[in-house]
Order: sequence, then C-alpha cells, then structure tokens
Amino acid sequence: MYELKAYAASDDSSRGRLHEEPEATMRGTFQRDRDRVIHSAAFRRLEYKTQVFVNHEGDMFRTRLTHSIEVAQIARTVARALNLNEDLSEAIALAHDLGHTPFGHAGQDSLNKCMRDYGGFEHNLQSLRVVDVLEEKYAAFAGLNLSFETREGILKHCSITNAAELGTLGERFLNGEQPGLEAQVANIADEIAYNNHDVDDGLRAGLVDLNDLQNVESFRQPFVEVTDLWPDLPERRTIHEVIRRMINRQVLDLIETSQKAIDACAPGSIHEVRTAGVPLILLSEEANNRHLELKRFLRTNLYRHYRVHRMTLKAARIVRALFDVFSEDARLLPKAAADHMAELESANGATGRARAIADYIAGMTDRFAIAEHERIFSASTLT
Ligand code: MG
Repeated sequence: MYELKAYAASDDSSRGRLHEEPEATMRGTFQRDRDRVIHSAAFRRLEYKTQVFVNHEGDMFRTRLTHSIEVAQIARTVARALNLNEDLSEAIALAHDLGHTPFGHAGQDSLNKCMRDYGGFEHNLQSLRVVDVLEEKYAAFAGLNLSFETREGILKHCSITNAAELGTLGERFLNGEQPGLEAQVANIADEIAYNNHDVDDGLRAGLVDLNDLQNVESFRQPFVEVTDLWPDLPERRTIHEVIRRMINRQVLDLIETSQKAIDACAPGSIHEVRTAGVPLILLSEEANNRHLELKRFLRTNLYRHYRVHRMTLKAARIVRALFDVFSEDARLLPKAAADHMAELESANGATGRARAIADYIAGMTDRFAIAEHERIFSASTLT
C-alpha cells in the first residue's frame, strides 16, 4: 500500500459509524464500507436504472451501475496518485447514485414536484437515506452503518433546511466547510465520467453528430490527433480512442492542478482540509472551461434532443401517476411498502405517508416502474 498523506482520510482519524461495531478482522474501515455498498440491494438495482436513456432503449448504453464503476475507476486513479485513501474514494463513487429514482433526472424532478408539500425529494439525500435507513441487511441495525467519511462523501449537495436536520453530517453545509479530499475526488470523477460517456452514448444513439462535436475544443483536439495518426481507422475505434484521450487529459490535469493546490494550502490533517475554505481538488481554469463547454454542448444537443424529451415526458408522467395513485389508495401497495408506510405514517402523519411512497418509487428500476404503471393502469393486465 502506498503511503497516505496526513490530510488523507484514515482508519485512525475516522469519525466512526452511527452504531458502534467491532472492527473487521482483515479489512480497513473504508474497504468494509465499499464491500457493504457492493452487497446492497440498491447497488444491484443500479443495473436497471439510467441517466439519459431509458433502460429498455438498448443494451449498448451506460446504466447507473456501469457509470458508478467508471466513476470509481477514475476516482481510484486520482486518489492513489495524490496519496489519498483510495478505498474511501471508491466507496463513495460506488454509493453516490444509490438514491436515484428510475428514469434519471426526469424521474427525480417529477418526484421532487410530487413531494413539494412534504419536504421535497433530493437524490443525494435519498442516497444517504438508502445507506442509513432503507437497506435491510444486518441484524443489529437498519441501513449499512457506513463510516462518517463515506456518508459525508455521499451527501454531495444538500439544502440548508435539510442540512439543519442532519446533525453532524449536515454541519458543513451550514458552516461552509468542505468535505474530505476523497469526497472531492469522487465528485469530480462523477462529472468527468458522465460527460465523456454521454458523448459516447449520444453518438452511438445517433442523437449527437460527429461534425457538431468537432466544434467542441476538448473533442476537436484529440480527434485531430487521432485522425492524423490513423486516417483509415473505423469510426467506432476513432471515437473510443478520442474519448479515452479526453478522459486521460482531464484526469492528468486534475491530478496536477490538485497537487499544486494541496501543496499551496499544505493542510496538516483532514480537519484542515474541511476548513480550508475552498475545494483543493480541482481542474485548471483552462480544463474547467473546456469541461463547461462540453457540458453546454451536451445540454443543447443531447439532453434537449426531442427524442430524449419524449422519454423525459413519459418518465415524468409515470412517476407522477404512480405517486398520485398510491397517495389516493394505499391498498395498491405491496405488503412491504404498505408496512413501511404504516410505520412512517404513525411517526409523521401525512408527511411520513408521502415519504414512504417516495421511498417505494425511488427504489424502482426503470423497467419495474414501467411494469408497475402497466399493472395498475392497463385494462389488459388485470392480475
Ligand atoms: Mg453520477
């Protein structure tokens, strides 16, 4: 194992778990967190949840599972190069999307609207809810009982209202503190991963045009390099070679820029990272501008494509219809979800009741949500 820097997260400086447990025999704190995430039900469901494309659109596209694995790969590379805790960055990366609804952002926006009068719905907060409360894996406690540092990393954003209710974990949003460097790494790794794979998936789906992409600097440069070196390469291999170089460039820039920022700040502990006032894991200004240019391109050309919009609209309607029908008649809920609702309702009235429905819907995969909608609303499936 490479040597951890003083500002990296370590087993010794960990702020511990919600419920006290004996240490694992062969594994460190964050290795154990990562393993618990991998064995969770929510992690397995990521295979059938998507970000841009609905799961049944084809088997070629990224799912949230393959996305999370790509994020973990990038995060591990960066964490190791900066002598940070690789296991922690990996655990956060694998867990970061656990709370996502079916149908990506369309599903999340729709569920947030449904929950407007009941505290709203934030996917980051839901990821935390999954690992803290909803997973049913252990005899001694609800949830996965992950360490503070992994939970801190999972909660990437949080509204001030919600932060106020989260105790120690919410404090940094109220005090304007940063999370540990491993969390900062996982956060940027997420952005790098999805920007680049959305280019790949967008091209593959025929929604993004190769000529249009050449107006984007971060694509154009490696594209020119690759086509100069291999003018006769088939298009798929050209695209992959370009995307591979795009990711590599960003990752190298991230490592170099972050190392400089860390050296300049010279934090002596993870506490000094948290109170540094600014993030220390960052891209150079030039790389960040290119990254933002690519994001803008994808927003206009992919996320707002009419075919994506059609999926988005259908997805939002499915989520809304399910939420409304379960709110009107809770007898439609399967037993486990009905029991969960009874429990939350007795503790928290109408808000608890709505939260239980949100938990049920957020836990669905794309295809399960479509099937459940069909089972409830289609006259031809009276079973
Ligand atoms: Mg993500």
